Amino acid sequence: MNWTFNLLDWFSKQQRPMPWRQNPSAYGTWISEMMLQQTQVVTVIPYFERFMTQFPTIQSLADAPLEKVLKAWEGLGYYSRARNLHKAAKIIVNDFNGTVPNNYKTLLTLPGIGPYIAAAIGSIAFEEPVPVVDGNVLRVFTRYWGIFDDIMKMTTRTMLTDRLTPYIQDVKPSDFNQAIMELGALICKPKDPLCSTCPLQEKCFAFHSQKIAELPYKPKKAAVPHHTIVVGVIWKDDKVLITKRKEDQMLGGLWEFPGGKLEKGESLKQALIREVNEEVDIQIKVGAVYGVIKHAYSHFKITLHAYHCEYVSGTPIAKSASDLKWVSPKTLHDLPFPKANKSLIPLIINS
Ligand code: SF4
Repeated sequence: MNWTFNLLDWFSKQQRPMPWRQNPSAYGTWISEMMLQQTQVVTVIPYFERFMTQFPTIQSLADAPLEKVLKAWEGLGYYSRARNLHKAAKIIVNDFNGTVPNNYKTLLTLPGIGPYIAAAIGSIAFEEPVPVVDGNVLRVFTRYWGIFDDIMKMTTRTMLTDRLTPYIQDVKPSDFNQAIMELGALICKPKDPLCSTCPLQEKCFAFHSQKIAELPYKPKKAAVPHHTIVVGVIWKDDKVLITKRKEDQMLGGLWEFPGGKLEKGESLKQALIREVNEEVDIQIKVGAVYGVIKHAYSHFKITLHAYHCEYVSGTPIAKSASDLKWVSPKTLHDLPFPKANKSLIPLIINS
Protein backbone atom coordinates (compact mmCIF):
# COMPACT_ATOMS: atom_id res chain seq x y z
CA MET A 1 0.00 0.00 0.00
CA ASN A 2 1.18 3.54 -0.78
CA TRP A 3 2.88 5.18 2.24
CA THR A 4 0.94 8.43 1.70
CA PHE A 5 -2.33 6.56 2.27
CA ASN A 6 -1.06 5.11 5.58
CA LEU A 7 0.30 8.49 6.64
CA LEU A 8 -2.91 10.42 5.89
CA ASP A 9 -5.06 7.74 7.47
CA TRP A 10 -2.92 7.95 10.64
CA PHE A 11 -3.13 11.79 10.62
CA SER A 12 -6.92 11.79 10.27
CA LYS A 13 -7.15 9.74 13.48
CA GLN A 14 -4.22 11.01 15.55
CA GLN A 15 -3.76 14.73 14.85
CA ARG A 16 -3.75 16.91 17.93
CA PRO A 17 -6.29 19.70 18.29
CA MET A 18 -4.52 23.05 17.96
CA PRO A 19 -6.09 26.52 18.06
CA TRP A 20 -4.81 27.36 14.56
CA ARG A 21 -6.41 24.18 13.18
CA GLN A 22 -9.89 25.29 14.29
CA ASN A 23 -11.32 27.72 11.69
CA PRO A 24 -7.96 27.95 9.91
CA SER A 25 -7.06 31.23 8.22
CA ALA A 26 -4.03 32.33 6.24
CA TYR A 27 -3.23 34.92 8.92
CA GLY A 28 -3.49 32.37 11.75
CA THR A 29 -1.38 29.87 9.79
CA TRP A 30 1.31 32.48 9.22
CA ILE A 31 1.42 33.53 12.90
CA SER A 32 1.43 29.94 14.19
CA GLU A 33 4.16 28.80 11.79
CA MET A 34 6.36 31.79 12.68
CA MET A 35 5.95 30.94 16.38
CA LEU A 36 6.50 27.22 15.86
CA GLN A 37 9.97 27.66 14.34
CA GLN A 38 12.43 26.34 16.96
CA THR A 39 9.60 26.18 19.52
CA GLN A 40 7.38 23.35 20.80
CA VAL A 41 3.61 23.30 20.21
CA VAL A 42 2.77 23.36 23.95
CA THR A 43 4.82 26.52 24.42
CA VAL A 44 3.32 28.19 21.36
CA ILE A 45 -0.40 27.61 22.11
CA PRO A 46 -0.83 30.27 24.87
CA TYR A 47 1.35 32.74 22.93
CA PHE A 48 -0.74 32.18 19.79
CA GLU A 49 -4.04 32.66 21.63
CA ARG A 50 -2.86 35.87 23.32
CA PHE A 51 -1.36 37.22 20.08
CA MET A 52 -4.54 36.60 18.07
CA THR A 53 -6.64 38.30 20.77
CA GLN A 54 -4.30 41.27 20.84
CA PHE A 55 -3.83 41.49 17.06
CA PRO A 56 -6.92 39.82 15.54
CA THR A 57 -6.28 41.10 12.01
CA ILE A 58 -3.31 41.88 9.79
CA GLN A 59 -4.37 45.52 9.88
CA SER A 60 -4.23 45.58 13.70
CA LEU A 61 -0.77 44.00 13.62
CA ALA A 62 0.47 46.51 11.03
CA ASP A 63 -0.94 49.44 13.05
CA ALA A 64 0.55 48.32 16.39
CA PRO A 65 3.80 49.86 17.66
CA LEU A 66 6.73 47.42 17.30
CA GLU A 67 7.26 47.53 21.07
CA LYS A 68 3.76 46.08 21.64
CA VAL A 69 4.48 43.24 19.20
CA LEU A 70 7.81 42.50 20.89
CA LYS A 71 6.07 42.49 24.28
CA ALA A 72 3.55 39.91 22.97
CA TRP A 73 6.52 37.84 21.74
CA GLU A 74 8.52 38.18 24.97
CA GLY A 75 9.84 34.79 26.09
CA LEU A 76 9.52 33.08 22.67
CA GLY A 77 13.04 34.18 21.69
CA TYR A 78 14.39 34.70 18.15
CA TYR A 79 12.95 38.22 18.17
CA SER A 80 13.78 38.84 14.50
CA ARG A 81 10.69 36.71 13.81
CA ALA A 82 8.49 39.27 15.60
CA ARG A 83 10.17 42.23 13.89
CA ASN A 84 9.74 40.54 10.50
CA LEU A 85 6.06 39.74 11.20
CA HIS A 86 5.48 43.40 11.92
CA LYS A 87 7.34 44.53 8.76
CA ALA A 88 5.53 41.95 6.60
CA ALA A 89 2.11 42.95 8.02
CA LYS A 90 2.75 46.54 6.90
CA ILE A 91 3.73 45.33 3.42
CA ILE A 92 0.64 43.10 3.17
CA VAL A 93 -1.60 46.03 4.14
CA ASN A 94 0.09 48.45 1.72
CA ASP A 95 0.81 46.20 -1.27
CA PHE A 96 -1.64 43.28 -1.01
CA ASN A 97 -4.80 45.00 0.19
CA GLY A 98 -4.46 43.44 3.65
CA THR A 99 -4.68 39.87 2.35
CA VAL A 100 -1.94 37.24 2.80
CA PRO A 101 -0.57 36.36 -0.68
CA ASN A 102 -1.97 33.00 -1.78
CA ASN A 103 1.09 31.44 -3.38
CA TYR A 104 4.56 30.21 -2.46
CA LYS A 105 6.47 32.49 -4.85
CA THR A 106 4.89 35.74 -3.63
CA LEU A 107 5.04 34.68 0.01
CA LEU A 108 8.81 34.27 -0.35
CA THR A 109 9.15 38.00 -1.10
CA LEU A 110 7.94 38.98 2.41
CA PRO A 111 10.35 39.60 5.32
CA GLY A 112 10.89 36.56 7.54
CA ILE A 113 9.25 34.14 5.10
CA GLY A 114 11.68 31.53 3.79
CA PRO A 115 10.97 28.30 1.87
CA TYR A 116 9.60 26.48 4.94
CA ILE A 117 7.07 29.16 6.04
CA ALA A 118 6.06 29.88 2.42
CA ALA A 119 5.38 26.19 1.83
CA ALA A 120 3.48 25.89 5.11
CA ILE A 121 1.20 28.88 4.38
CA GLY A 122 0.84 27.98 0.70
CA SER A 123 -0.17 24.40 1.44
CA ILE A 124 -2.13 24.74 4.70
CA ALA A 125 -4.04 27.92 3.85
CA PHE A 126 -4.29 27.64 0.05
CA GLU A 127 -3.82 23.91 -0.73
CA GLU A 128 -0.80 24.66 -2.91
CA PRO A 129 1.09 21.38 -3.53
CA VAL A 130 4.49 22.44 -2.11
CA PRO A 131 6.12 20.14 0.49
CA VAL A 132 7.41 21.60 3.75
CA VAL A 133 10.86 20.50 4.86
CA ASP A 134 11.62 21.28 8.50
CA GLY A 135 13.59 19.39 11.16
CA ASN A 136 10.75 16.91 11.71
CA VAL A 137 10.36 16.15 8.01
CA LEU A 138 14.12 15.76 7.57
CA ARG A 139 14.22 13.27 10.43
CA VAL A 140 11.27 11.21 9.18
CA PHE A 141 12.42 10.89 5.57
CA THR A 142 16.15 10.49 6.07
CA ARG A 143 15.17 7.52 8.24
CA TYR A 144 12.43 6.26 5.95
CA TRP A 145 14.49 6.46 2.75
CA GLY A 146 17.91 5.84 4.35
CA ILE A 147 19.50 9.16 3.38
CA PHE A 148 22.89 9.74 5.05
CA ASP A 149 23.52 13.28 3.72
CA ASP A 150 24.23 16.10 6.18
CA ILE A 151 20.81 17.56 7.08
CA MET A 152 22.37 20.93 7.90
CA LYS A 153 23.19 21.42 4.21
CA MET A 154 20.77 23.25 1.92
CA THR A 155 21.38 20.68 -0.81
CA THR A 156 19.88 17.96 1.42
CA ARG A 157 16.74 20.04 2.01
CA THR A 158 16.42 20.77 -1.72
CA MET A 159 16.88 17.09 -2.57
CA LEU A 160 14.19 16.09 -0.07
CA THR A 161 11.82 18.78 -1.37
CA ASP A 162 12.30 17.37 -4.88
CA ARG A 163 11.68 13.81 -3.68
CA LEU A 164 8.51 14.76 -1.80
CA THR A 165 7.04 17.00 -4.52
CA PRO A 166 5.50 14.21 -6.68
CA TYR A 167 3.75 12.67 -3.66
CA ILE A 168 1.98 15.88 -2.60
CA GLN A 169 0.42 16.35 -6.06
CA ASP A 170 -2.15 13.58 -5.63
CA VAL A 171 -3.33 14.31 -2.08
CA LYS A 172 -4.69 17.20 -0.03
CA PRO A 173 -1.54 19.35 0.45
CA SER A 174 -2.62 20.79 3.82
CA ASP A 175 -3.10 17.30 5.28
CA PHE A 176 0.06 15.89 3.70
CA ASN A 177 2.35 18.56 5.14
CA GLN A 178 0.73 18.66 8.57
CA ALA A 179 0.77 14.86 8.71
CA ILE A 180 4.51 14.54 8.16
CA MET A 181 5.27 17.28 10.66
CA GLU A 182 2.92 15.66 13.18
CA LEU A 183 4.48 12.24 12.60
CA GLY A 184 7.91 13.72 13.30
CA ALA A 185 6.66 15.39 16.48
CA LEU A 186 4.66 12.47 17.90
CA ILE A 187 6.08 9.21 16.51
CA CYS A 188 9.40 9.55 14.69
CA LYS A 189 10.93 11.45 17.62
CA PRO A 190 14.67 12.22 17.82
CA LYS A 191 15.16 9.68 20.63
CA ASP A 192 13.19 6.47 21.11
CA PRO A 193 10.83 6.77 18.12
CA LEU A 194 7.58 4.84 18.49
CA CYS A 195 8.15 2.58 15.48
CA SER A 196 5.59 -0.01 16.60
CA THR A 197 2.78 2.50 16.01
CA CYS A 198 4.30 4.23 12.96
CA PRO A 199 2.30 4.20 9.71
CA LEU A 200 5.57 4.17 7.72
CA GLN A 201 7.14 1.22 9.48
CA GLU A 202 6.47 -1.35 6.73
CA LYS A 203 9.08 0.08 4.34
CA CYS A 204 11.21 2.18 6.70
CA PHE A 205 14.93 1.78 5.94
CA ALA A 206 16.13 2.82 9.41
CA PHE A 207 13.71 0.54 11.21
CA HIS A 208 14.53 -2.57 9.17
CA SER A 209 18.30 -2.00 9.07
CA GLN A 210 18.48 -0.89 12.74
CA LYS A 211 20.08 2.43 11.81
CA ILE A 212 17.65 4.71 13.64
CA ALA A 213 20.34 6.09 15.97
CA GLU A 214 22.54 7.02 12.97
CA LEU A 215 19.85 9.05 11.21
CA PRO A 216 19.43 11.88 10.55
CA TYR A 217 23.13 12.57 10.05
CA LYS A 218 24.52 15.90 11.20
CA PRO A 219 28.14 16.69 11.99
CA LYS A 220 29.07 17.28 15.63
CA LYS A 221 28.73 20.89 16.75
CA ALA A 222 31.74 22.86 17.95
CA ALA A 223 31.65 23.77 21.67
CA VAL A 224 29.25 26.64 22.35
CA PRO A 225 31.09 29.82 23.45
CA HIS A 226 30.35 31.27 26.88
CA HIS A 227 30.33 34.98 27.77
CA THR A 228 30.32 36.64 31.17
CA ILE A 229 28.02 39.66 31.17
CA VAL A 230 27.68 42.30 33.84
CA VAL A 231 24.79 44.78 34.04
CA GLY A 232 23.91 47.61 36.38
CA VAL A 233 20.49 48.37 37.83
CA ILE A 234 21.26 52.07 38.19
CA TRP A 235 19.05 53.92 40.64
CA LYS A 236 18.42 57.66 40.65
CA ASP A 237 15.85 58.57 43.32
CA ASP A 238 13.13 55.95 42.86
CA LYS A 239 13.80 55.21 39.17
CA VAL A 240 16.13 52.88 37.27
CA LEU A 241 17.89 53.46 33.96
CA ILE A 242 17.10 51.21 30.96
CA THR A 243 18.35 51.29 27.38
CA LYS A 244 16.79 50.04 24.14
CA ARG A 245 18.78 47.83 21.78
CA LYS A 246 19.18 49.03 18.21
CA GLU A 247 16.82 47.30 15.78
CA ASP A 248 19.59 45.85 13.62
CA GLN A 249 21.20 44.13 16.65
CA MET A 250 20.41 40.72 18.06
CA LEU A 251 17.37 41.19 20.40
CA GLY A 252 16.81 44.52 18.60
CA GLY A 253 14.01 46.72 19.94
CA LEU A 254 14.09 45.12 23.41
CA TRP A 255 14.93 47.05 26.58
CA GLU A 256 17.76 46.06 28.92
CA PHE A 257 19.86 47.24 31.83
CA PRO A 258 23.13 48.94 30.81
CA GLY A 259 26.20 46.69 30.82
CA GLY A 260 28.12 44.31 28.60
CA LYS A 261 30.82 41.68 28.27
CA LEU A 262 33.64 41.22 30.73
CA GLU A 263 37.01 41.79 29.06
CA LYS A 264 40.22 39.92 29.82
CA GLY A 265 41.87 40.99 33.11
CA GLU A 266 38.87 43.01 34.34
CA SER A 267 36.91 42.45 37.54
CA LEU A 268 33.12 42.44 37.21
CA LYS A 269 32.87 45.88 38.84
CA GLN A 270 35.58 47.37 36.59
CA ALA A 271 33.80 45.98 33.52
CA LEU A 272 30.49 47.43 34.65
CA ILE A 273 31.91 50.92 35.25
CA ARG A 274 33.60 50.84 31.81
CA GLU A 275 30.51 49.52 29.99
CA VAL A 276 28.14 52.04 31.58
CA ASN A 277 30.53 54.86 30.75
CA GLU A 278 30.86 53.66 27.12
CA GLU A 279 27.15 53.01 26.67
CA VAL A 280 25.45 55.91 28.43
CA ASP A 281 28.29 58.23 29.47
CA ILE A 282 27.52 58.49 33.20
CA GLN A 283 29.43 57.74 36.40
CA ILE A 284 28.04 55.25 38.87
CA LYS A 285 28.80 53.73 42.26
CA VAL A 286 28.59 49.94 42.16
CA GLY A 287 26.94 48.27 45.16
CA ALA A 288 25.81 44.75 46.02
CA VAL A 289 24.94 41.89 43.69
CA TYR A 290 21.24 41.54 42.75
CA GLY A 291 21.56 38.12 41.18
CA VAL A 292 23.46 35.84 38.81
CA ILE A 293 21.52 34.40 35.89
CA LYS A 294 22.55 31.74 33.38
CA HIS A 295 20.95 31.69 29.93
CA ALA A 296 21.57 29.80 26.69
CA TYR A 297 21.01 31.36 23.26
CA SER A 298 21.19 29.32 20.06
CA HIS A 299 24.92 29.96 19.45
CA PHE A 300 26.34 30.92 22.85
CA LYS A 301 25.67 30.86 26.56
CA ILE A 302 25.88 33.68 29.08
CA THR A 303 26.25 34.13 32.81
CA LEU A 304 24.81 37.52 33.69
CA HIS A 305 25.83 39.26 36.91
CA ALA A 306 23.56 42.12 37.97
CA TYR A 307 24.64 44.82 40.45
CA HIS A 308 22.73 47.41 42.40
CA CYS A 309 24.23 50.77 41.37
CA GLU A 310 23.73 54.39 42.31
CA TYR A 311 23.84 57.21 39.79
CA VAL A 312 26.67 59.63 40.61
CA SER A 313 27.02 62.18 37.79
CA GLY A 314 26.65 62.98 34.10
CA THR A 315 23.72 63.24 31.68
CA PRO A 316 22.92 59.84 30.16
CA ILE A 317 23.33 59.69 26.37
CA ALA A 318 22.30 56.62 24.31
CA LYS A 319 25.73 56.14 22.73
CA SER A 320 25.34 52.52 21.65
CA ALA A 321 21.58 52.13 22.09
CA SER A 322 18.61 53.53 20.20
CA ASP A 323 16.95 55.03 23.29
CA LEU A 324 17.15 55.26 27.07
CA LYS A 325 14.92 56.33 29.93
CA TRP A 326 14.55 56.43 33.72
CA VAL A 327 11.53 54.37 34.74
CA SER A 328 9.73 53.36 37.89
CA PRO A 329 10.43 49.64 38.57
CA LYS A 330 6.65 49.01 38.58
CA THR A 331 6.47 49.83 34.86
CA LEU A 332 9.24 47.39 33.85
CA HIS A 333 6.69 44.60 33.35
CA ASP A 334 4.99 46.66 30.61
CA LEU A 335 8.09 46.72 28.40
CA PRO A 336 9.71 43.92 26.35
CA PHE A 337 12.99 42.59 27.84
CA PRO A 338 15.25 39.66 26.86
CA LYS A 339 14.81 36.66 29.16
CA ALA A 340 17.89 37.07 31.38
CA ASN A 341 17.12 40.79 31.99
CA LYS A 342 13.45 39.98 32.59
CA SER A 343 14.40 37.55 35.37
CA LEU A 344 15.87 40.51 37.27
CA ILE A 345 12.62 42.47 37.37
CA PRO A 346 11.01 40.68 40.36
CA LEU A 347 14.31 41.04 42.27
CA ILE A 348 14.32 44.79 41.56
CA ILE A 349 10.65 45.32 42.44
CA ASN A 350 11.04 43.40 45.70
CA SER A 351 14.33 45.03 46.71
S1 SF4 B 1 9.42 3.28 11.50
FE1 SF4 B 1 10.44 4.32 13.18
S2 SF4 B 1 12.25 5.26 12.27
FE2 SF4 B 1 10.88 4.66 10.58
S3 SF4 B 1 9.73 6.53 10.15
FE3 SF4 B 1 8.53 5.30 11.60
S4 SF4 B 1 9.10 6.05 13.64
FE4 SF4 B 1 10.62 6.79 12.17
